[in-house]
Amino acid sequence: MTASHAVQTAVLSQGRAAVYEEPVGPAGVRVRERPRTEPAAGSVAVAIKAASINHLDLWMAHGAQRVTPPRVIAADGAGVVEASTVDAWKPGDEVVVYPVVCDWECPSCRAGQNVMCPHFGVVGEHTDGTACELFHIDARNIFRKPNDLTWTEAAAFPLTFLTAWRMLTTRARLQPGEKVLVVGAGAGVAVAAIRIAKHLGARVFATSRSEAKRKRAIEIGAEAAFDSADFSKAVREATGGVDVVFEHVGPATLGESMRSVVPGGRIVLCGSTSGVKAEIAMARLFWGQLDLLGSTMGNAGEFQAVLDAIDKGLRPVVDSVHPLSEVQGALERLDAAEQFGKVVLNIQ
Ligand SMILES: [Zn+2]
Repeated sequence: MTASHAVQTAVLSQGRAAVYEEPVGPAGVRVRERPRTEPAAGSVAVAIKAASINHLDLWMAHGAQRVTPPRVIAADGAGVVEASTVDAWKPGDEVVVYPVVCDWECPSCRAGQNVMCPHFGVVGEHTDGTACELFHIDARNIFRKPNDLTWTEAAAFPLTFLTAWRMLTTRARLQPGEKVLVVGAGAGVAVAAIRIAKHLGARVFATSRSEAKRKRAIEIGAEAAFDSADFSKAVREATGGVDVVFEHVGPATLGESMRSVVPGGRIVLCGSTSGVKAEIAMARLFWGQLDLLGSTMGNAGEFQAVLDAIDKGLRPVVDSVHPLSEVQGALERLDAAEQFGKVVLNIQ
């Protein structure tokens, strides 16, 4: 997706905001002051309490996303309605942002398939983002904040939990008692996958290069965690093969992921952080009756399902909280792959 797919939805990021200005890495994202206005018809203005960053923001800062600066970063935000033009929301309501951009009107959107919308995009990539004091967005992108979450937690779950939820439920059809392997266990989306798979009653396994992250993966619900090097052997020895592999790494791990599943296994992917092209052992795919499943983000209905699961006890994992003024340090933490879970920006 490129910025040319941009959207009719009036998204505006106002007040103090973290703005991607130059493709030089974290140093190219700077805090700027933007003018404040009243929300347009159909929109809500949200005073953002906390936002969280994703790898997407880092790629954008490095110039890898073909986004023309300036662009306010971040897809995830939670805050308090400050002004509303619709009956559904009033000032003071506590809300979270559904991080998908779409037109809400096309046949796909009307059928509840926002991810198939011709105007599909991601907040903070295809529009300005949530790392700002006041965020205007279509009222249909606003959902009630789960009561049991802190502001930090409420900003930590949307993009990663939405993505991992669709991958594991709609796409991979993970069942209670099935075995799922989550590759690259420090990334926000992988941590979400461990928590969701456990919540759904699956048996969860994980891989990481880092011993500290393997230990953390076990603390949050994995039965066992394996070193990333040639992991399929250890996975097969320990599990006899898993039913589902949760992938976001791509070329560096896909072969090992395909060797880790049982016949009929599913490999579900939402990203490819190690490169854009991978080689596939074709016989393993067809002889093994494997499903290779792509997935991006999720529908509004899936976002509501995540919120319902949170009400039943599902919880995000916060790695660290940084003031908006230290957004560069927050991005550097992702750049160094030091994080386990979500890196959150405290806005106000
Ligand atoms: Zn649409």
